[in-house]
Amino acid sequence: MVLIFLGPPGAGKGTQAARLAEHFGLKKISTGDILRDHVKRGTDLGRQVAPIMARGDLVPDDLILAIIREEIEKLPAARIIFDGFPRTLPQAEALEALLRDLGLATDAVVLLDVPTEELVARLGKRAREEGRADDTEEAIRRRLEVYARQTAPLIDYYAGRGVLLRIEGVGEVEAVTRRIIEALEASLWPSSSSGQKK
Ligand code: ADP
Repeated sequence: MVLIFLGPPGAGKGTQAARLAEHFGLKKISTGDILRDHVKRGTDLGRQVAPIMARGDLVPDDLILAIIREEIEKLPAARIIFDGFPRTLPQAEALEALLRDLGLATDAVVLLDVPTEELVARLGKRAREEGRADDTEEAIRRRLEVYARQTAPLIDYYAGRGVLLRIEGVGEVEAVTRRIIEALEASLWPSSSSGQKK
């Protein structure tokens, strides 16, 4: 089972992807977390990407795809939830090819829909609480622009493949999780009301 979480910065992808991974017994692969870990450890990759991330720009596709290949190879079985990947059309196409080579395909793409004003408010709050390097006002604005230009086209890409699930991302964390689980069960196992695991 391969799931993708798509949505603007601040939509709650990381939080919801972790809850869904737990619920369905999937491994969560978060490119943002992996990159932040490299930055923290001061690896070559970390030093290379730190200024890019702090500005709110995207890390080059080739670096991201190298990370993804390595992560997929580590897994014993393809039960994956991608959080924050793919973020560009070339990344989505490369993922499709990678999965195809493994005899797999993306089962569903969860798009978390949150209005821009709410995103800005959430990111501002996180900036005050966590102090992430890319949560400055300038970088937040940049990340929202980058999302609209480079990542939002993936919505049509996945809708065209019939795997997009648009979920309202506003409300209690628990309520959003329930919405996602219900939508996934209805789309992946339409004939079973209990939603047995794939
Ligand atoms: P958010 O969704 O809140 O922006 P993430 O943790 O997903 O946070 O990503 C943080 C930053 O890491 C991005 O702004 C970007 O610089 C980099 N990044 C993460 N995933 C990718 C990706 N798939 N492609 C390019 N850059 C990425």
